[in-house]
Amino acid sequence: MIHEIFPVGVLQCNCSVVGDEQTKEAMVIDPGDEIDHILRVIRQHGLTVKQIVITHAHIDHVGGAMKLKQATGAPILLNQNDYALLKMLDVQAAWIGMQSPGAVTIDNPIGSGERVAAGNVVADVLHTPGHTEGSICLYFEAERKLIAGDTLFAGSIGRTDLPGGSYKKIMESLQGPVLALPDDTIVVPGHGPLTTIGEERESNPFLATR
Ligand SMILES: [Zn+2]
Repeated sequence: MIHEIFPVGVLQCNCSVVGDEQTKEAMVIDPGDEIDHILRVIRQHGLTVKQIVITHAHIDHVGGAMKLKQATGAPILLNQNDYALLKMLDVQAAWIGMQSPGAVTIDNPIGSGERVAAGNVVADVLHTPGHTEGSICLYFEAERKLIAGDTLFAGSIGRTDLPGGSYKKIMESLQGPVLALPDDTIVVPGHGPLTTIGEERESNPFLATR
């Protein structure tokens, strides 16, 4: 599996380009900004983008989605519980003093039990509300890799004080589907360095069971 991870935009959201080495089909996860950079990575690997997946509707994760869709023709996927938040992109832009990227339209809703594929690369969708109502994680079982959005970070968890956030729900999401994953699962958070499920189970102060 081809997997390029690089931070984009002022808030340095980790964007992932995931591709099938054989078919050269790809998905882009969280194209928050810097679409030229993303397209350069896609070209370097000779990939065709089949899916644009958004882990949640915060502007730093979804801001570049329409530009990427225009450039690639790929559909945009988001959990339906974040549609209301997506309608507030102008408000979100004002919070961080950014120009609004304009309206983003979703082509397909995605939720738990569904799968997203690019060629032979397949990810299970885990609905993990808490940071936002419609937050999802993508689990690539064959690679033991979790793209976690802003649900789990190295040594921390997503903030729950923004509209739609819930500390109770993020803890349920983490203690439920996220920590059910094997310890050697590599976690790609929405911001900052990579970690593993085992490392977070062991040392993340929010997840300590003692
Ligand atoms: Zn966020």
